[in-house]
Amino acid sequence: MKAAVLEAYGQPLNVTDVDLHDPQAHEVKVAIRATGVCHSDLSIQQGKLPLPTPCVLGHEAAGEVIEVGDGVTNVKVGDRVVCMWTPMCGNCYMCRRGQTHLCEGVRAMGLMDDGTSRLSLNGQLVYHGINAATFAEEGIYRDYAVVKIGDDIPFEIAAVVGCGVLTGVGAAINTAKVRPAESVAVVGCGGVGINVIQGARLVGANPIIAIDTMQSKLDMAERFGATHLVDASNKDAVTEVMGLTGGRGADAAFEVVGNPVLQRKVFDMTRRGGRAVFVGAAALTDEVTLPSLILALGEKNVLGCYYGSCDPKRDIPLFLDLWKAGKLDLEGLISQTLKLDDVNGAFEDMEAGKVIRTVLTP
Ligand SMILES: [Zn+2]
Ligand SMILES: [Zn+2]
Repeated sequence: MKAAVLEAYGQPLNVTDVDLHDPQAHEVKVAIRATGVCHSDLSIQQGKLPLPTPCVLGHEAAGEVIEVGDGVTNVKVGDRVVCMWTPMCGNCYMCRRGQTHLCEGVRAMGLMDDGTSRLSLNGQLVYHGINAATFAEEGIYRDYAVVKIGDDIPFEIAAVVGCGVLTGVGAAINTAKVRPAESVAVVGCGGVGINVIQGARLVGANPIIAIDTMQSKLDMAERFGATHLVDASNKDAVTEVMGLTGGRGADAAFEVVGNPVLQRKVFDMTRRGGRAVFVGAAALTDEVTLPSLILALGEKNVLGCYYGSCDPKRDIPLFLDLWKAGKLDLEGLISQTLKLDDVNGAFEDMEAGKVIRTVLTP
């Protein structure tokens, strides 16, 4: 089976033949039909998000179930599914409290529940990237890590929901719980940022202020529902947001880059009593400093956001229904469709800011 392997940080992915073992009990084998290239994959390739190597990258995907292990009851061969990179065991402290995105049933990163991998190369262990390893023709997933979708949903559309849409739209509607007519500011209008914007549009936020240093990304933000654009390469984002919100600051402001300097700016552009939401994944060693007095007296709420606080089993079908109803733009997220062999070119296009999402069709 062909897969894109990261052998060491900083190196291009090696698209090569990898051995995929049989699914064990409560595991399913999925033929990957479409997989989005997310910024987190690039961050791992660059060593900013350190995960064990060698690994197969890729973590937002849709495909077709081609084999099931013993005890699998939620899907059968032939079903279309979205593959998840977070476990949702349904039984742990977090899952029982409705916070499945924080599930404690986490196995060792990149391995299956029994602590072994289903991937190997020349007899050597290969890790499952961000628990998903979707830059591949096939993958093995725990049964609770696949969500069945309708047969009428195109694989490319279903693939992009699995990470960027859940995270971005979820950040707006689940984490920040944005309400109609609230003011929203979004710093960073990449693949996740524009989904924060369309989540805010979906619930009727106004104004929706998009902030980025690249004009191409601001143009995209406007297409997805931004009402005001701020080019931060020549304007101070905090001053601009203040000016657009009566000098008060935004009801909800989002940092979608993963940069402590920008996190501080997002804190500053949030109104008293508002929500500053940190969505972007910074480097492991990064730290952010916030003004203690203003944090307390301004009663500002700083919210971390992981996976858009989504329950994928609830939110994936919900978001796909919204797409069918014309209320979520998913086609517009897909800038290009390439083959698995082109994965390194997809990384280059992402770094150059040329694309929102490249979808690979293994
Ligand atoms: Zn992702
Ligand atoms: Zn759990």
